[in-house]
Amino acid sequence: MLYFLTRLISESQALFSACLPSHCLMCGLHSADQLICQHCNQAILTERPCCLHCGYGLAQTQNVCGECLKHPFKFNRLVAVSGYQAPFPALIKKLKYQHQLIYGDLLGLLLANIVKQSYSEDQQKQIDYILPVPLHPKKHRIRGFNQAHLIADALLKQLPLRAKLVTPIDRNKATTAQEGLTRKQRNLNLSNAFSMAVPTLNLQGKHVVLIDDVVTTGATINSICECLLSAGVKKVDVWCISRTELGDQAN
Ligand SMILES: [Zn+2]
Ligand SMILES: [Zn+2]
Repeated sequence: MLYFLTRLISESQALFSACLPSHCLMCGLHSADQLICQHCNQAILTERPCCLHCGYGLAQTQNVCGECLKHPFKFNRLVAVSGYQAPFPALIKKLKYQHQLIYGDLLGLLLANIVKQSYSEDQQKQIDYILPVPLHPKKHRIRGFNQAHLIADALLKQLPLRAKLVTPIDRNKATTAQEGLTRKQRNLNLSNAFSMAVPTLNLQGKHVVLIDDVVTTGATINSICECLLSAGVKKVDVWCISRTELGDQAN
């Protein structure tokens, strides 16, 4: 009996090890069965100069970007793993377009590391709900999954959060890309794009975090914030993988 148990445990461990990559998913070097190697992990945790409110990459050290001074976003704070720069566009594409779901685990892990750096454990515990930014149902059907949902799932496994992952928002419009549009055009593109799902969750007085893969102009996120705030949400934070830098061309 003991032999069979030992055999079973050892076979299970072998299978588990075989499922884990022995090479870093970012640089390809040996990673001792971790998703990323120590070197890449450290490189990501290096602070980048950015707007303390919206996370927009800034060329020099200043606290708040010009856009936030003119038209502050509705969210409280945005935290990003990085700008829209190598290797992140490639990692996100592997998840979204090549359906390599292990990259969802990697991106969730990287995001969790940045969150641990940016929030105390007490602050993390004050969060009530984690909301992946929804995809339009048609896009969701074609892709088969929502990448923000996969990232949020992986993130929750890494943090001591009491927050629950919920999806109370419907995306009613397949909006076109926001870049290159004027503020007025963006608002028109996004008007009525999001609504609360029915039956809805009671979000009154709650602190929620929106999860997205890439935030470019911030207009989509802002539109979801408006929807949440009108449902009584007290505070919205945004956590994403890539936030555009000055001069970036995110898609
Ligand atoms: Zn590496
Ligand atoms: Zn800003």
